[in-house]
Amino acid sequence: MLYEKIKLNLRGKTSYPYRQPSPSTLSSCSRLLWYKVHEPHVVESNAPELELIFEDGRAGEEQMIQLIQEVGEYIVTHRQARIVSYIGKHRSMGNIDGVANGNQIKAPGLIFDTKRLSPFVWREFERDGIDALPHYQDQLTPYILGSPQSLGIDNKRAILFAMNRENADIFDDLVILDPERVDKLEYMLDNREEILANPKAPLRPYSRDSRECKTCPARDYCWWSESRDSLTLSELQPSDAEEAVANAIDFTTHQSDRRDHNSKMDEIRSYFDSLLEKYDCKSIRIETGEGLIVRPNIRTGTQREFDELALSYAHPEIHREYISTKPTTQLRFEIRFRGSLISQ
Ligand code: SF4
Repeated sequence: MLYEKIKLNLRGKTSYPYRQPSPSTLSSCSRLLWYKVHEPHVVESNAPELELIFEDGRAGEEQMIQLIQEVGEYIVTHRQARIVSYIGKHRSMGNIDGVANGNQIKAPGLIFDTKRLSPFVWREFERDGIDALPHYQDQLTPYILGSPQSLGIDNKRAILFAMNRENADIFDDLVILDPERVDKLEYMLDNREEILANPKAPLRPYSRDSRECKTCPARDYCWWSESRDSLTLSELQPSDAEEAVANAIDFTTHQSDRRDHNSKMDEIRSYFDSLLEKYDCKSIRIETGEGLIVRPNIRTGTQREFDELALSYAHPEIHREYISTKPTTQLRFEIRFRGSLISQ
């Protein structure tokens, strides 16, 4: 009822294009950033579900700032103030959530950022403090670096204030300016500049089943390969060929014993995904010499896509008009033993 119209109205919204490094994109997938620069059509439209996550984040931020001010009785200033910082030759620009003053925080106050965390990340944060969240340390470091010039605040520290998404519990910790982290960020930004200048997309830093890829707006495009067809072992570098044989045997062993742990299978699948990508091919025929042939291969196909949302809202009576197809990919393994097909 309500959700259909809301989701329809959230369609077609776009994330900001990548222009320059901002603290909030320091930990983003470099391949996703490459798409934003070289093939912006890939991410030109966010799914309504992604926009809902952004909406939820904005609402959560307001709620947390209200807690700081109204319940904690701190004074909050510099809401959404812009901070420019320099890391090596790179200029980074971003907006902070605010500066907190009062109670035990002495003038000129501390920059803070608010985050809502999943229960799993929350547990780590409560246990290990900011050390459990290096990507948020990366995000807050440029704010600390740029605040003397941008805000006239030179505190060399900032607060990460977090809320547990599951039970609304709260916790915070201090990020302290660390010269080693600044060096690491400079290296990261140099590296990213090189990647973005390259006309070829960088290798995928995550596996197909990772949390990052599952929620990425470029997922379908990124994993749809237009690569060469089939390779054999002799076309791989000797060390890769050796490793491929070992993994193929491992895969077959685990495949035949379904009691084995799925994590091992995931590890081997991820290995072959990367190998196919490294050689830019759709399949590799691996003969182990014992009559066993394993062929990890990307199968391209189509799946029927049914736009139920638009259908139910606009034209419930003519649902067939909303059926379309789109390409899909799947990593599969064909296994032969002494000439007989065992599975595919
Ligand atoms: S699908 Fe994964 S590897 Fe590809 S751009 Fe997105 S996060 Fe990066």
